[in-house]
Amino acid sequence: MESLASARSRDALAFSVLDSEVRLAILDSLYDRTVASGPLAGNATYSTIKADVGVEDSGRFSYHLDKLTDRFVTKTETGYRLAESGREVIRLRRTGAFTADPNVEATQVDGECYRCGGGIQAFYRRGYLVTQCRECIGLIDHELVADGTLASLSYPPSGVSGIDIETAFERSHLRSVHTFRAMADGFCPNCGHGVRVTLPPGDGEKPGDDGYGFSHVNHDGMVRFACTHCGHRHLSHPLYATDDREPMADFFATNGIAPGWDRLATVMSWPVTVGDAELVFETPDGIRFRVDDELEVRRE
Ligand SMILES: [Zn+2]
Ligand SMILES: [Zn+2]
Repeated sequence: MESLASARSRDALAFSVLDSEVRLAILDSLYDRTVASGPLAGNATYSTIKADVGVEDSGRFSYHLDKLTDRFVTKTETGYRLAESGREVIRLRRTGAFTADPNVEATQVDGECYRCGGGIQAFYRRGYLVTQCRECIGLIDHELVADGTLASLSYPPSGVSGIDIETAFERSHLRSVHTFRAMADGFCPNCGHGVRVTLPPGDGEKPGDDGYGFSHVNHDGMVRFACTHCGHRHLSHPLYATDDREPMADFFATNGIAPGWDRLATVMSWPVTVGDAELVFETPDGIRFRVDDELEVRRE
């Protein structure tokens, strides 16, 4: 794959093609008219799109449609359809990621703090859904992060627009565990490249110089996932990121612990011992889970 730098001029051109309300309206019309994805999508005719967009002047309309064709729109024998790149533009716009900036005040949600057992609340600001304890210092120790932060998850503005914060809180945790599971399986769900897993530093070791993570969390059992291509990075609990495989899947099912926040809160509360290339977690019932540096988990 070409480097980011050499793709820059073509990417800039692609973005410039989108710099027109008429063209975005054409993409919206095509999306609504040919909503099935890929080869299942239908066509929309020239006149249908033109009527949707409401541009009377055929020359002006054709000019804009031509600009999109081949890059975001495909011309067929009977009309036009969206290319996958065009769908991606619409989907991204509908998340509100570019222009929406909702702010949801902290609201109490169902669950308890895994550090102190206190009540928790959730709020949304600047693209992040934050789960917060009001009674302790929380997990993340950083000047830009609110005191008591237990989890801070990137989440689209659309996820809190017209959706109550309790639901958004639950969904944001369910969504993030899918990301963690993929990364624990060795690949980045965002770009498809490989993921590097790093265990926390042992006693006396340095946390690494990439400025991300370990030194800012008040927990010794977190692992770091880092995509080798797009830079997607997360700190997560290894027993949470592997909650869909054995032995954790069986443990959670047997104990009736639902996916999402409840599983995260459960494993985060367990004490951890950092060993040589392994982490050992112990449950209140004395079960031990050993995690090696390839995220293999053994139950003892
Ligand atoms: Zn707390
Ligand atoms: Zn990636």
